[in-house]
Amino acid sequence: MTEYYMERMTWKEVEAVIAEGVDAILLPIGTTEQHGPHMPLDTDCIIARGIAERAAKAAEEAGLRVLIAPTLNVTLSWYHMQYPGSMRLSTTTFLQVFNEVCESLHHHGFRNVIVVNGHGGNVAALSVAVNYYLETTARRVFLLQWWELAGDIIGTVEGPGIHAEEAETSIALAVGQRVLMEEATIDAWDRGEAVKEAGHTWTSLGKYNLAHKGPGVTVPMDMLRDISESGVVGDARRATPELGQRILDALIPRVVTVIKDMSKTAPE
Ligand SMILES: [Zn+2]
Repeated sequence: MTEYYMERMTWKEVEAVIAEGVDAILLPIGTTEQHGPHMPLDTDCIIARGIAERAAKAAEEAGLRVLIAPTLNVTLSWYHMQYPGSMRLSTTTFLQVFNEVCESLHHHGFRNVIVVNGHGGNVAALSVAVNYYLETTARRVFLLQWWELAGDIIGTVEGPGIHAEEAETSIALAVGQRVLMEEATIDAWDRGEAVKEAGHTWTSLGKYNLAHKGPGVTVPMDMLRDISESGVVGDARRATPELGQRILDALIPRVVTVIKDMSKTAPE
């Protein structure tokens, strides 16, 4: 069986794979943070790795060689710090870590780095990170996120779509994460209302839901326990492995397309 995880190889094996040619290296980014009463703290890492692994295998079947870099498992979870076990880096530290990880991969000759992000709280910083990386190194790193790349499936899921809810719990089930469905709950179904009730600054035009349509204002995250005692934002009880599998079925061929396109068009 082909090994995809770089950290499980010896340096001689990595050297050999690089010499043969690597089309892309996937960089899973998760976090260590609460995922409601029903899922472990490593859920975003498990999802990112589950996607990366399936994509690497599907890419191999399409004649592409893909490696998976070590998972970044402590990232931007400052707004989860009210729940035991959640860990955080500051945004500026995270940007620095991202830069140095990408530079390490570049140092060894990996041309095409594709971030597989599993954590919504990293989105804003990672968008800055990939643009800043291009600005300062002239190198392109692509950023993919399952809720965007399978947006057509996610769009059919009701509710705020923010955290440890139906879609995320479903994909966690599909990649084999430990999920305690009997603990699954609903909370902050109307996130905007929950923010208002918590007494935080609020606007009726705020984009409080993932699927916000029409005119909207970007609002920062609030400390999550102020709006959700359980840590869930949405309804986790509706989750099914079938929905998770539908997300993966839509997602994985698209990840392979990104790998193929990047590998064909990147400069040597
Ligand atoms: Zn998550």
